[in-house]
Amino acid sequence: MPIVGKAELMQRVLRGIEASGWRWKMQNQNHPFRIAAFDQESRTNLVVYVWNITHGGGAARPEDEYRIQLTGVTPPLISLPDGPTLLMGWSEDWTLFAAFDARLHSRFSERSPSIQFRREVIDTAIASGVALHRRSNGEVVVVFRPEFLMTYAMNRDGFHAGSLAVVRRRQAVIEQISRTVEGIAVPAPPDAEIVGRDRIIKAANRALRDGSFKNRVLRAYGYACALCGMQFDVIDAAHIVPVERLVNFSTRNGLCMCPNHHRAYDKGLIVVEPSFSITVDQARLAYYKSHRRAEGEENLLGSIFRHLRVPANPLEQPAPNLLKLGMEIRREN
Ligand SMILES: [Zn+2]
Repeated sequence: MPIVGKAELMQRVLRGIEASGWRWKMQNQNHPFRIAAFDQESRTNLVVYVWNITHGGGAARPEDEYRIQLTGVTPPLISLPDGPTLLMGWSEDWTLFAAFDARLHSRFSERSPSIQFRREVIDTAIASGVALHRRSNGEVVVVFRPEFLMTYAMNRDGFHAGSLAVVRRRQAVIEQISRTVEGIAVPAPPDAEIVGRDRIIKAANRALRDGSFKNRVLRAYGYACALCGMQFDVIDAAHIVPVERLVNFSTRNGLCMCPNHHRAYDKGLIVVEPSFSITVDQARLAYYKSHRRAEGEENLLGSIFRHLRVPANPLEQPAPNLLKLGMEIRREN
């Protein structure tokens, strides 16, 4: 698991605030960070504690256990009247935040300053964008994509509250919303009445709809094909690893492509390497040539860049492991 430094962790938080559609002003660059966040209607002051999410470690711990370690700070956690204190872990691999209930950990023990959670909550967040998990001690852990950060921050207390039954129902509805928004058929769309009644589901609903995969990917790439720069609103938001293989609506599983390059990519003729290099599969090209189906080669392949044009925000760039998997799947076809 790649570990990033504190300065980068701060950047991840700031990019998350931006991806949520908010702006920020740094108030204190030392950890815990103090950040003023504002959008058109509201303003809040965040106290942000953030560490890398690491594997549980040690033979005595379960294999699927991950944790954050509250190192470098002394209890109690700072709590201010003009905004929430966020207690979070960040995973560079999964581009996800895991948020814990700062009020429960305010007086953490300096001798064993770590909070654990299970891998399954990460998997759920990868698939749905948000995952709520109630730990055996009653604490609700919230794992989410960066663009969900301010929705979480503004509703922090509500997200961490609720009985096991409430948390499970919220999670089930959130998964339904996510699949509906992304155009994957679900047996029944979420009950509008339930969405309307529960403040937390309502907030999640709004964020998931605003941040649909298509909108996020098109925006991140400036509405241009990452392979040739074509715009004109003819472009697609494509999944690097197809939904049939992996349900992952992260922007990092997306690529903006014009229809021709999208098809050529899916056919395995154009290959995007994990390093962002773009190459042509020479064996496939030779196949088309030998079958007299390579007319227009210059039009299709002459316009592609050597390197993918990716978004500047690293949280929106294609993930190398997904590009690799996408390459392998298309090579099999
Ligand atoms: Zn193109």
